[in-house]
Amino acid sequence: MFANQVLCEFFLAVTRESSIDGGMFCLLDFWIRFCLCRLVSSWDFRVIIILKSGVSDSQIDHVVDVVQSLGFATHVSRGTFRTIVGLIGDESTVAIQKLKSIVGVADVIPVLPAYKLASLEAHPQPSIVSVGRVRVGGGHLAMIAGPCAVESAERMNSIAKAVKTAGANILRGGAFKPRTSPYSFQGLGIDGLKILRETGDRYDMPVVTEVTDPRNVPDVNEYADLIQIGARNMQNFVLLTEVGQSQKPVLLKRGMSATLEDLLMSAEYVLSQGNPNVILCERGIKGFDRATRNVFDVAAVPALKALSHLPVIVDPSHATGRPDLIPACAYAGLAAGADGVHMEVHDCPEEAMSDGPQALLPSQFAEVVSQLKKIGQLFGRTF
Ligand code: PEP
Ligand code: MN
Repeated sequence: MFANQVLCEFFLAVTRESSIDGGMFCLLDFWIRFCLCRLVSSWDFRVIIILKSGVSDSQIDHVVDVVQSLGFATHVSRGTFRTIVGLIGDESTVAIQKLKSIVGVADVIPVLPAYKLASLEAHPQPSIVSVGRVRVGGGHLAMIAGPCAVESAERMNSIAKAVKTAGANILRGGAFKPRTSPYSFQGLGIDGLKILRETGDRYDMPVVTEVTDPRNVPDVNEYADLIQIGARNMQNFVLLTEVGQSQKPVLLKRGMSATLEDLLMSAEYVLSQGNPNVILCERGIKGFDRATRNVFDVAAVPALKALSHLPVIVDPSHATGRPDLIPACAYAGLAAGADGVHMEVHDCPEEAMSDGPQALLPSQFAEVVSQLKKIGQLFGRTF
């Protein structure tokens, strides 16, 4: 303990005071974090405050006074170059920004992530989310397929029949479409929800559809088995809170420029309302290259799984926007640990009212699914 403390203080001093190259800095940074972890585990600190070099005794006392007035017990570790204050107490009651603004504070390091309920610490086993009779997570794969938008009962019927035959276990179709242009097809609304529900029941498939407006949550809740929050609404906190208050499972898509932490914080909005049924979805993030619609961040899958117990699926359709690339990205997603794949399928893409260019034909979808089955088996996951 003492040795760690000394080493920690030493390295804190060296890294801040001297000029060292990047590689060396990474090594030292790792060492500091390692030592801090040891320090933390021996004291059960929730937050660590690193003070600026050269702070006076009265400034240290001031930091301690402020922190104690916020309800924390403190442990001060005074080094030759740096002083560290460990906080013991409930960190959820205080904003890190508030601690950072105390005079003399250089940095504040929370020990636990802010997305408490979504974190692996909160729930070390993978969560399994039930969507109707389909289980997602913990070795059970979601195979979600259907058109981008519900267009008509006939079209929905023919596509559902094809994807069901090919092996899909959840039917998708947008009734409320979040379109970039206000002049584009906006979806059939409630009529679309009814068509989707009837079609899902006909083929014995649970259904997923997007909600874009908190005022539509009761209707979507009534007709859907899984409520989708789209990329454009990932940080619509009113909408997240609303779906959190329903017990329906939520498919939360990653925002186009959202970090994984942003995504997990959005999941936390749903979980903190008492709805534990959240499935995360990697659907591509914005990039500069026009070769693909978005950049498929396949590393997000294992990275999310290292942080959270929530199931993670991939959507290679919106990630690539290209039917010729969807199969490879679907395989990669599953091999990277995804708990399912979400793909758009249309039996006549040229007539599709939204996202036609990225739709797989039913025959292409069937081929992808048969390969995904093999990959799933290889990794002990089935659908
Ligand atoms: C969709 O699923 O049709 C959709 C609009 O997805 P995203 O929010 O990922 O763009
Ligand atoms: Mn779409």
